Amino acid sequence: MLISRDVHARFASLGSEFPRLAERFVSATLTSSERGAVTVSRSLERVYRGSIALIGDASGSVDAVTGEGLSLGFHQALALADALEARI
Ligand SMILES: Cc1cc2nc3c(=O)[nH]c(=O)nc-3n(C[C@H](O)[C@H](O)[C@H](O)COP(=O)(O)OP(=O)(O)OC[C@H]3O[C@@H](n4cnc5c(N)ncnc54)[C@H](O)[C@@H]3O)c2cc1C
Repeated sequence: MLISRDVHARFASLGSEFPRLAERFVSATLTSSERGAVTVSRSLERVYRGSIALIGDASGSVDAVTGEGLSLGFHQALALADALEARI
């Protein structure tokens, strides 16, 4: 995975940016097409209003590189279910 602030960054530029790392991939074979996605870190002031609650990425998000997004979403879903059951 390549993460960059530059939307034009591609694996092909690895050699000029990180030559020592690129050396290790010289004999590697590309097995799929290069794809991109937006990753952001953000927090919101409120994640609920009335009977609407936001969970998962809609409630804010952590940088994709932390690998926590799914875990946070599942924890939030369980916490929301507990809150609904307890009528909090
Ligand atoms: C590059 C990258 C790598 C990642 N790696 C990891 C990882 O290794 N481990 C990890 O835990 N997390 C990782 N994440 C984060 C993880 O993918 C997200 O945290 C998780 O998918 C959030 O789930 P979600 O259901 O909240 O949102 P999403 O998965 O974004 O689901 C939202 C859904 O709503 C749909 N939608 C949007 N707008 C509308 C609309 N108006 N009407 C109807 N449908 C709509 C979208 O099409 C989408 O299907 C990564 C994220 C990225 C970008």
